[in-house]
Amino acid sequence: MHCLFCTIAAKEIPASIRHEDAEIVAFDDIHPKAPTHVLVVPKAHIPSVRELTANDAALMGRLVLVAAKLAEDAGIGERGYKLVMNCGKEGGQVVPHLHLHLLGGKPLQGIV
Ligand code: AMP
Ligand code: ZN
Repeated sequence: MHCLFCTIAAKEIPASIRHEDAEIVAFDDIHPKAPTHVLVVPKAHIPSVRELTANDAALMGRLVLVAAKLAEDAGIGERGYKLVMNCGKEGGQVVPHLHLHLLGGKPLQGIV
């Protein structure tokens, strides 16, 4: 398996897992950009937002719901947080397996 996040989802390399269900795994970012920085990742290998189809609509909704739950679990729901999904080179996507960043625990006013 040559995809980093597929390898993490398969538990072939370790990660600090915060959530797991049949379709989604969430784990701490290895280079956190904020006190809370969790990656919410579909287990299915979808390279980026560009490859999504209508069949993925419910899955994408569940990614956001898992991120919102993890934010509450981390105690940052009330303060607020940022959800980011990078797509492609100029979007800043480095790992070509779709993922949602949950960032919080400090002020994050910035580019958007
Ligand atoms: P992106 O730039 O949106 O593709 O985000 C990829 C993220 O994956 C970056 O924030 C990296 O710090 C993170 N990352 C890379 N390798 C690992 C790893 N082994 N475990 C957890 N996070 C990782
Ligand atoms: Zn993958």
